[in-house]
Amino acid sequence: MIKYTRISYEDIFKPPMMSMFVISACNLQCEECIMMNQMHLHPSYQMSLEEMEKFLYYTEKSGYRFNYRYTGGEPLYWRNLKDGTKMLRKSKSCKSILLMTNGMKHENLNDEIIRMIDYVRISQYNYNDEAISLLKEKYPHKVKIVDREKFYPNPLSPIHEAAPVECGNLEHIYFNKKIYMCPHSYSLSIKHNLKNLEIGIDLCDNYCNRNLEIREGHELICKLCLGNKKVRDNLDMIDNVSNRHEKLVQLNINKIK
Ligand code: SF4
Repeated sequence: MIKYTRISYEDIFKPPMMSMFVISACNLQCEECIMMNQMHLHPSYQMSLEEMEKFLYYTEKSGYRFNYRYTGGEPLYWRNLKDGTKMLRKSKSCKSILLMTNGMKHENLNDEIIRMIDYVRISQYNYNDEAISLLKEKYPHKVKIVDREKFYPNPLSPIHEAAPVECGNLEHIYFNKKIYMCPHSYSLSIKHNLKNLEIGIDLCDNYCNRNLEIREGHELICKLCLGNKKVRDNLDMIDNVSNRHEKLVQLNINKIK
């Protein structure tokens, strides 16, 4: 069994943090998901174990230690959830692992995986109560809930009052053999056709240095990003809707019949 010192839920949000975008597929695809454009451009993406190995090589060589989080897509569909987590947990770069999920594919989460993860953060919608109750009962010390029934709509054009930027997402993201300056920049650059901007770099020694410089120069993306508190201050929340939600509910009803 892999042994590690578990950290508090508050400390897990302290930088340096790294999002591991492990899969594009999602069972819900909420309309206002900020990652939607990245997911749609790479619909079959899943992080391979080779990608994980390469990432850990450069990360350890650079002496980095991260609070990690799994994102996507829906990480519970990631085919390497168990083996990838083993590699990550064993790495000297690992301070903690947070799994971000809607919990609905909970049958893919077993005790062995849970033991290697510090916390499971479940987004609460108005249709995953059953999954939340089940996981809370099974893993009461690891499960944390965050309300996502209402959400901010993504702005269609830059909000000019949203500067200087107050970013609440200080993590980088690893996706498809590249490190991006922040979790939202790639998806937003696809959506707004900002292909001329430098938003990330290939894995290399000390990759964080360059990424911090890139982040400094990206006010335009930040004015479009819900991670910027000042963008959210200019918007009203709306119901967080997934078209798939109705279909999933329908599926459940049919099953009951
Ligand atoms: S685009 Fe800007 S505000 Fe949004 S997460 Fe990245 S750095 Fe933060």
